[in-house]
Amino acid sequence: MNSAYKKDGSCEMPENVVRLRERLNPCRLCPRQCNVNRVAGEIGSCRIDATARVASAQRHFGEESVLVGRGGSGTIFFAGCNLHCVFCQNHDISQEAVGQPCSPEQIADLALNLAEAGCENINYVTPTHVAHAVAESIVIARRRGLTVPTVYNCGGCESPDTLKLLEGLIDIYMPDFKYASEAAGRKYSDVSDYPSIAQDALREMYRQIGPLLVEHDVAQKGVMVRHLVLPHDLADSREVIRIVAQTAPGCAINIMNQYRPAYRAGEFPELLDYPSGRLIYSLCEFAAQNGLRIL
Ligand code: SF4
Repeated sequence: MNSAYKKDGSCEMPENVVRLRERLNPCRLCPRQCNVNRVAGEIGSCRIDATARVASAQRHFGEESVLVGRGGSGTIFFAGCNLHCVFCQNHDISQEAVGQPCSPEQIADLALNLAEAGCENINYVTPTHVAHAVAESIVIARRRGLTVPTVYNCGGCESPDTLKLLEGLIDIYMPDFKYASEAAGRKYSDVSDYPSIAQDALREMYRQIGPLLVEHDVAQKGVMVRHLVLPHDLADSREVIRIVAQTAPGCAINIMNQYRPAYRAGEFPELLDYPSGRLIYSLCEFAAQNGLRIL
C-alpha cells in the first residue's frame, strides 16, 4: 500500500484511502453511481452524506460461529444502505438516516474499545456507502494498535473499483449473494443487474483474499458468503450456489434459514411465507456437491 506524507513529515492517509474519499463527489462509491456531491451534503440512494452514522457498536454473539469465537464479534452497525430490500429485518436502521454521526477517529475509538473488550474481530455492518470512512478508521485504528481481523459485512452490491481501493484493509469479506434472478433483485431490492454486480464484486474479493482461513475455530482471513433462502425459492438459490462455486471455488457459504416476513413484505403475498426445511437441506447438499464449504 502506498503512503503519502505531508511536507512536515506527518503521515497522511494512504493514497488508496484518499482516493476512496474522492469517490464521494460525484458519488460513485457503489454501483448505483448517484453522482451526487456527498461532500457538500447531498444525499443519494443510500440517504447518507459524507459523514458516517453509527447506529450501534456492540459485542455480538449471533453471527456465524467462526466470527463469534469466544469473545464475540465486534459489530459496528452503520445507518443507511445502498439496497432497499422490502423484507429487511433491520429496516429501522438501513432505510433511515438514524444513528450518531461519527468521524473516522470516533469509529476507530469504537473499534479499539471492542477489541479491548475481547472481540475476535471488528465487523463493519452495511459499510458499502461509507467505505471511505471505514477505510480511514481502519488505518487510524491499526496505527493505534488494532490487530484483530476486520470484517466487511455487506449486501453484495459493491463496486469492484471501490473494493480495489480497500485492498489490504479488509481481512474478511462477508458479502450477501441475495439473488440469481435479475427480476427478483429489481422487485425486492430495487437494483438492476444484481446477479452480475454481486458476481463481479465476489470475484474481486476472492482475488484479494481467497478462501476462508480459520484458526482455532475463529476466522482470520478470506471470503465467506451469506445467502438468505427466500420462500418459494424466489432468489433462485441453486443458481446462486452455482455462481458462487464458479466464481469463488471452495468458498465458504452460509445458507441462511432465518427468513421471516418483515418491513414491507406484506405488500408481496409471495413473501409472507417461510422457506421449507426440505429446501434448505437440499441447498446445503447442493452447495457441498459444488465444492463449497458450508458454515
Ligand atoms: S454510495 Fe450512496 S450516494 Fe453513492 S452511489 Fe451508492 S447509493 Fe449513491
